[in-house]
Amino acid sequence: MIHLKSAREIELMKGASRIVAEILLELREQARQGMSTADLDRIAEDLIHKKKARPAFKGYRGFPACVCISINEEVVHGIPSSKRILKNGDIVGLDFGVIYDGYFGDAAFTVAIGEIPDHVRDLLRVTEQALYEGIKQALPGNYIADISAAIQKAAEAHHFGIVREFCGHGIGRALHEDPPVLNYAGNGKGPKIKPGLVLAIEPMINLGTEKVKVLDDGWTVTTLDGKPSAHFEHTIAVTPDGPEILTRV
Ligand code: MG
Repeated sequence: MIHLKSAREIELMKGASRIVAEILLELREQARQGMSTADLDRIAEDLIHKKKARPAFKGYRGFPACVCISINEEVVHGIPSSKRILKNGDIVGLDFGVIYDGYFGDAAFTVAIGEIPDHVRDLLRVTEQALYEGIKQALPGNYIADISAAIQKAAEAHHFGIVREFCGHGIGRALHEDPPVLNYAGNGKGPKIKPGLVLAIEPMINLGTEKVKVLDDGWTVTTLDGKPSAHFEHTIAVTPDGPEILTRV
Protein backbone atom coordinates (compact mmCIF):
# COMPACT_ATOMS: atom_id res chain seq x y z
CA MET A 1 0.00 0.00 0.00
CA ILE A 2 1.31 3.44 -0.91
CA HIS A 3 1.22 6.10 1.84
CA LEU A 4 0.98 9.51 0.21
CA LYS A 5 2.31 12.25 2.50
CA SER A 6 0.63 15.54 3.31
CA ALA A 7 2.54 18.79 2.82
CA ARG A 8 3.05 18.85 6.60
CA GLU A 9 4.50 15.35 6.62
CA ILE A 10 6.87 16.27 3.79
CA GLU A 11 8.03 19.26 5.86
CA LEU A 12 8.71 16.86 8.75
CA MET A 13 10.55 14.47 6.43
CA LYS A 14 12.89 17.30 5.45
CA GLY A 15 14.35 17.12 8.96
CA ALA A 16 15.56 13.51 8.63
CA SER A 17 16.65 14.01 5.03
CA ARG A 18 18.67 17.13 5.84
CA ILE A 19 20.51 15.29 8.60
CA VAL A 20 21.31 12.45 6.17
CA ALA A 21 22.60 14.94 3.58
CA GLU A 22 24.75 16.84 6.09
CA ILE A 23 26.34 13.70 7.50
CA LEU A 24 26.95 12.17 4.07
CA LEU A 25 28.66 15.38 2.98
CA GLU A 26 30.87 15.22 6.07
CA LEU A 27 31.77 11.58 5.30
CA ARG A 28 32.58 12.44 1.69
CA GLU A 29 34.87 15.24 2.83
CA GLN A 30 36.61 13.16 5.47
CA ALA A 31 37.06 9.91 3.49
CA ARG A 32 40.72 9.56 2.65
CA GLN A 33 43.53 7.08 2.13
CA GLY A 34 44.61 5.30 5.33
CA MET A 35 41.26 5.56 7.14
CA SER A 36 39.27 2.45 7.95
CA THR A 37 35.61 2.04 7.09
CA ALA A 38 34.98 1.70 10.86
CA ASP A 39 36.50 5.20 11.28
CA LEU A 40 33.92 6.58 8.84
CA ASP A 41 31.10 4.77 10.63
CA ARG A 42 32.22 6.23 13.96
CA ILE A 43 32.19 9.77 12.52
CA ALA A 44 28.63 9.18 11.31
CA GLU A 45 27.48 7.75 14.64
CA ASP A 46 28.89 10.73 16.59
CA LEU A 47 27.15 13.18 14.26
CA ILE A 48 23.83 11.29 14.46
CA HIS A 49 23.88 11.66 18.24
CA LYS A 50 24.86 15.33 18.05
CA LYS A 51 21.89 15.95 15.77
CA LYS A 52 19.59 13.97 18.09
CA ALA A 53 18.59 11.52 15.38
CA ARG A 54 18.76 7.73 15.35
CA PRO A 55 20.52 5.53 12.80
CA ALA A 56 18.18 3.84 10.34
CA PHE A 57 20.37 0.90 9.42
CA LYS A 58 22.00 -0.10 12.72
CA GLY A 59 19.98 -3.06 13.99
CA TYR A 60 17.89 -3.22 10.81
CA ARG A 61 17.56 -6.99 10.32
CA GLY A 62 20.68 -7.18 12.49
CA PHE A 63 22.94 -4.89 10.41
CA PRO A 64 25.74 -3.96 12.85
CA ALA A 65 26.62 -0.39 11.81
CA CYS A 66 25.24 3.06 10.91
CA VAL A 67 26.60 3.30 7.36
CA CYS A 68 26.76 0.67 4.62
CA ILE A 69 30.25 1.13 3.18
CA SER A 70 30.96 -0.76 -0.03
CA ILE A 71 34.37 -0.58 -1.70
CA ASN A 72 35.12 -1.15 -5.43
CA GLU A 73 33.42 -4.45 -6.50
CA GLU A 74 31.14 -4.29 -3.46
CA VAL A 75 27.74 -3.09 -4.64
CA VAL A 76 25.85 -2.40 -1.40
CA HIS A 77 25.56 -3.44 2.26
CA GLY A 78 29.30 -3.54 3.05
CA ILE A 79 29.93 -3.78 6.81
CA PRO A 80 32.31 -1.18 8.29
CA SER A 81 35.47 -2.73 9.74
CA SER A 82 38.68 -1.51 11.36
CA LYS A 83 40.48 -3.92 8.97
CA ARG A 84 39.15 -2.29 5.79
CA ILE A 85 41.57 0.53 5.03
CA LEU A 86 40.83 2.98 2.21
CA LYS A 87 43.51 3.06 -0.50
CA ASN A 88 44.35 5.43 -3.32
CA GLY A 89 42.24 4.42 -6.35
CA ASP A 90 39.33 2.95 -4.37
CA ILE A 91 35.74 3.96 -4.94
CA VAL A 92 33.67 3.93 -1.77
CA GLY A 93 29.88 3.70 -1.68
CA LEU A 94 28.39 5.36 1.41
CA ASP A 95 24.73 4.48 1.98
CA PHE A 96 23.20 6.12 5.00
CA GLY A 97 19.86 6.75 6.68
CA VAL A 98 18.41 8.18 9.88
CA ILE A 99 15.10 8.42 11.72
CA TYR A 100 14.12 11.86 13.00
CA ASP A 101 10.69 13.12 14.12
CA GLY A 102 9.29 9.68 13.29
CA TYR A 103 10.36 9.73 9.64
CA PHE A 104 13.20 8.15 7.70
CA GLY A 105 15.64 9.75 5.26
CA ASP A 106 17.93 7.66 3.02
CA ALA A 107 20.69 8.59 0.57
CA ALA A 108 23.90 7.26 -0.93
CA PHE A 109 26.96 8.57 -2.70
CA THR A 110 30.06 6.95 -4.20
CA VAL A 111 33.29 8.83 -3.56
CA ALA A 112 36.71 8.36 -5.20
CA ILE A 113 39.80 8.08 -3.01
CA GLY A 114 42.67 9.88 -4.73
CA GLU A 115 43.21 9.08 -8.40
CA ILE A 116 40.89 6.66 -10.17
CA PRO A 117 41.05 5.48 -13.81
CA ASP A 118 38.93 7.34 -16.37
CA HIS A 119 36.61 4.38 -17.02
CA VAL A 120 35.79 4.15 -13.30
CA ARG A 121 35.22 7.91 -13.14
CA ASP A 122 32.79 7.47 -16.05
CA LEU A 123 30.93 4.82 -14.04
CA LEU A 124 30.49 7.26 -11.13
CA ARG A 125 29.43 10.11 -13.42
CA VAL A 126 26.92 7.98 -15.34
CA THR A 127 25.41 6.43 -12.20
CA GLU A 128 24.87 9.86 -10.64
CA GLN A 129 23.47 11.12 -13.93
CA ALA A 130 21.13 8.09 -14.10
CA LEU A 131 19.83 9.02 -10.63
CA TYR A 132 19.05 12.57 -11.80
CA GLU A 133 17.46 11.32 -15.04
CA GLY A 134 15.21 9.10 -12.91
CA ILE A 135 14.35 11.94 -10.52
CA LYS A 136 13.35 14.16 -13.47
CA GLN A 137 10.62 11.64 -14.33
CA ALA A 138 9.07 11.76 -10.83
CA LEU A 139 6.26 13.98 -12.10
CA PRO A 140 2.57 13.85 -11.23
CA GLY A 141 0.81 11.91 -14.01
CA ASN A 142 3.88 9.84 -14.93
CA TYR A 143 4.27 6.22 -13.82
CA ILE A 144 6.96 4.62 -11.66
CA ALA A 145 8.18 2.79 -14.79
CA ASP A 146 9.06 6.17 -16.35
CA ILE A 147 11.64 6.63 -13.57
CA SER A 148 12.94 3.09 -14.12
CA ALA A 149 13.19 3.51 -17.88
CA ALA A 150 15.10 6.80 -17.59
CA ILE A 151 17.66 5.20 -15.26
CA GLN A 152 18.01 2.20 -17.58
CA LYS A 153 18.49 4.37 -20.64
CA ALA A 154 21.22 6.44 -18.98
CA ALA A 155 23.14 3.33 -17.83
CA GLU A 156 22.72 1.25 -20.96
CA ALA A 157 23.87 4.09 -23.21
CA HIS A 158 27.29 3.26 -21.70
CA HIS A 159 26.79 -0.54 -21.72
CA PHE A 160 26.97 -0.73 -17.96
CA GLY A 161 25.26 -3.52 -15.99
CA ILE A 162 22.18 -2.56 -13.94
CA VAL A 163 21.81 -4.51 -10.71
CA ARG A 164 18.45 -6.33 -10.75
CA GLU A 165 18.25 -7.72 -7.24
CA PHE A 166 17.96 -4.38 -5.39
CA CYS A 167 15.91 -1.31 -6.10
CA GLY A 168 14.57 1.99 -4.79
CA HIS A 169 11.49 2.27 -2.61
CA GLY A 170 8.87 4.43 -1.01
CA ILE A 171 9.96 5.92 2.32
CA GLY A 172 8.23 7.59 5.26
CA ARG A 173 7.44 6.23 8.71
CA ALA A 174 9.07 3.02 7.46
CA LEU A 175 12.47 2.77 5.76
CA HIS A 176 11.07 0.65 2.95
CA GLU A 177 7.54 1.39 1.80
CA ASP A 178 5.67 0.74 -1.43
CA PRO A 179 6.18 1.15 -4.28
CA PRO A 180 9.43 -0.55 -5.35
CA VAL A 181 11.34 1.60 -7.84
CA LEU A 182 13.25 -0.68 -10.21
CA ASN A 183 16.31 0.61 -12.02
CA TYR A 184 15.21 -1.01 -15.28
CA ALA A 185 11.90 -1.36 -17.09
CA GLY A 186 10.14 -4.38 -15.61
CA ASN A 187 6.62 -5.61 -16.22
CA GLY A 188 4.02 -2.91 -16.70
CA LYS A 189 3.93 0.76 -15.81
CA GLY A 190 3.69 0.45 -12.04
CA PRO A 191 1.64 2.90 -9.96
CA LYS A 192 0.81 6.38 -11.20
CA ILE A 193 2.92 9.11 -9.61
CA LYS A 194 0.93 11.55 -7.46
CA PRO A 195 1.83 14.56 -5.30
CA GLY A 196 2.71 13.34 -1.81
CA LEU A 197 4.65 10.31 -3.03
CA VAL A 198 8.06 10.17 -1.33
CA LEU A 199 10.65 7.88 -2.89
CA ALA A 200 14.22 6.78 -2.35
CA ILE A 201 15.57 6.40 -5.89
CA GLU A 202 18.87 4.50 -6.01
CA PRO A 203 20.57 3.15 -9.13
CA MET A 204 23.28 0.54 -8.48
CA ILE A 205 25.33 0.24 -11.65
CA ASN A 206 28.22 -2.08 -12.49
CA LEU A 207 31.11 -1.53 -14.86
CA GLY A 208 30.75 -5.12 -16.11
CA THR A 209 28.11 -7.76 -15.59
CA GLU A 210 24.83 -6.92 -13.87
CA LYS A 211 25.16 -10.18 -11.90
CA VAL A 212 25.90 -10.03 -8.17
CA LYS A 213 26.41 -12.38 -5.24
CA VAL A 214 26.21 -12.10 -1.44
CA LEU A 215 29.37 -12.85 0.57
CA ASP A 216 29.51 -15.29 3.49
CA ASP A 217 28.99 -12.44 5.99
CA GLY A 218 25.36 -12.52 4.84
CA TRP A 219 25.37 -8.82 3.91
CA THR A 220 28.03 -7.65 1.49
CA VAL A 221 26.82 -7.75 -2.12
CA THR A 222 29.59 -7.86 -4.76
CA THR A 223 29.71 -8.02 -8.53
CA LEU A 224 30.13 -11.53 -9.89
CA ASP A 225 33.00 -10.50 -12.19
CA GLY A 226 34.87 -8.44 -9.55
CA LYS A 227 34.55 -5.19 -11.54
CA PRO A 228 33.60 -1.97 -9.73
CA SER A 229 30.07 -0.86 -8.92
CA ALA A 230 28.61 2.57 -8.09
CA HIS A 231 25.57 3.62 -6.05
CA PHE A 232 23.85 7.01 -5.79
CA GLU A 233 20.58 7.68 -3.98
CA HIS A 234 18.32 10.55 -2.98
CA THR A 235 15.08 10.76 -1.05
CA ILE A 236 12.69 12.88 -3.13
CA ALA A 237 9.15 14.15 -2.64
CA VAL A 238 6.71 14.56 -5.53
CA THR A 239 5.04 17.96 -5.33
CA PRO A 240 2.36 19.34 -7.69
CA ASP A 241 5.22 21.18 -9.43
CA GLY A 242 7.49 18.13 -9.76
CA PRO A 243 10.17 16.37 -7.74
CA GLU A 244 11.89 18.01 -4.78
CA ILE A 245 15.15 16.44 -3.58
CA LEU A 246 15.03 16.24 0.22
CA THR A 247 18.49 14.76 0.87
CA ARG A 248 20.40 17.76 -0.42
CA VAL A 249 22.25 20.18 1.87
MG1 MG B 1 17.42 3.05 0.05
